Amino acid sequence: MKNFQQLYIDGQWVNSQGNEKLDVVNPANGEVYASVPAANEQDVDLAIDAASQAFLAWSEQSSEVRAAVINEIADGMQARKDEIIEAIVATMGCPITFSDDYQVQGSIDALRSFAPLAAELDKQDTHENHVVVSEAIGVCVLINPWNYPLSQLVGKLGPALAAGCTMVVKPAEQTPIQDLILAEIIDQTSLPKGVFNLLTGVGSQIGERLCSHPKVDMVSFTGSTGAGIKVAQAAAPTVKRVCQELGGKSPYIIAPGADLEAAVRYGVEDVMLNSGQTCSALTRMLVPAAQLAEVEAIAKTVAAEWQLGDPMLAETNMGPLSSHLQQSRVLVYIKKGIEEGAKLLCGGTDVPAEFSKGAYIAPTIFSEVSNDMAIAQEEIFGPVLCIIPYDNIEEAIVQANDTPFGLASAVYAADRTEAMRIGKKLRAGQCYLQGAYFTPDTPFGGYKQSGNGREWGLEGLKEYTETKALLIDAEAK
Ligand code: NAD
Repeated sequence: MKNFQQLYIDGQWVNSQGNEKLDVVNPANGEVYASVPAANEQDVDLAIDAASQAFLAWSEQSSEVRAAVINEIADGMQARKDEIIEAIVATMGCPITFSDDYQVQGSIDALRSFAPLAAELDKQDTHENHVVVSEAIGVCVLINPWNYPLSQLVGKLGPALAAGCTMVVKPAEQTPIQDLILAEIIDQTSLPKGVFNLLTGVGSQIGERLCSHPKVDMVSFTGSTGAGIKVAQAAAPTVKRVCQELGGKSPYIIAPGADLEAAVRYGVEDVMLNSGQTCSALTRMLVPAAQLAEVEAIAKTVAAEWQLGDPMLAETNMGPLSSHLQQSRVLVYIKKGIEEGAKLLCGGTDVPAEFSKGAYIAPTIFSEVSNDMAIAQEEIFGPVLCIIPYDNIEEAIVQANDTPFGLASAVYAADRTEAMRIGKKLRAGQCYLQGAYFTPDTPFGGYKQSGNGREWGLEGLKEYTETKALLIDAEAK
């Protein structure tokens, strides 16, 4: 078992002010993989003080220096890539091939993409009587979930450093290890002490203090809508900026005339990836009722290509869910779907005996789902797809928009013009057209209860900046 004993505060590894520990469990076999400190509120205060003291000097560094440090960190991650992959496989059960390509290499590349964006803060919008500039917002608290732990960290760390902010980072309880490795990497770079501080710990114990602390200027939170609401409430009395990246129940409209084989394959694969634990997963597939039987047949064939397996094996494309708690939540929804009268096409509550120690769920598809069922309205966060038949495309658009969420959406139509027409009517922060995929240079974030911030690219950087107007009398010397 790996034993991590300390927190990273003010450029040093330090003991927690308390004695609490957190066990990190491997969801593939239920065994304890590591132990990490559970920070308390005194640790929170020390980390925020360090970030606060480091802010002025760091924010006044040149954009070249900020960009160079981002690349230095990315180089360090590249050198320790195998350890980070192992941590992600062991703590969230993500299959090794996907962990390598997307979770880790994709995150390293995405971090580098923020280096050139540091120069955005050098730009001035000059007018006859005023100049508009952007400045770092200040001390940031960065809180992440477990489903893409490194990617989510990089999506906050990159723009925060590029803008000149300082930060206190808190990973999810289930997946703290890649953050601890990152702190070791940062410790060896030229980043000034206090800019990056890391607290492992329990969100429900230290979240309130982190998000309400008067010296914090911004909280960037990714996680469930319920916890996101608590974060915003804690931050409200001190009027912090709160960037919320929350849950989703994203619709995918397959329009009449679409290439059905390609369209259904794309939708099933999107949901099964990462064992269905993707916030933007296209979990509601709306299909023409006249083509339902054909859609079901294709969907079952594609789902059969997703086989449960040991996440350490290169050939495994579906590992366990990230925890036994998450497995039990998903099982409740599968039972509910059956009770609600949806047609179970494949998967369900049974898992082969060889996987009984792990948090596994078989790829599950429900058809004949109606949009008002709980399985169509609530985020399940597992490999569960709902197929919803519709009679005409305008009805499909109404149903697509009829949930409290608005994170992502997708359209596959006969051609890109029709896909664009439909996509513009969907109330979501992203819309994937004709089989498009996520890229880290595109703004990502939610409408409605899916959140209110944007991450990635230039829009992601702007979240970490304040706008200042410098006004000058046109006649002044
Ligand atoms: P979660 O809300 O339980 O936990 C997320 C993080 O919040 C953890 O670090 C946790 O410790 C912390 N936390 C919990 N209570 C807190 C509180 N009161 N104050 C401050 N922090 C607190 O979510 P999860 O189960 O880890 O992750 C799954 C959820 O994340 C899903 O709903 C998913 O859709 C969402 N998600 C959203 C995005 C996005 O970009 N919109 C991306 C990934 C995941």
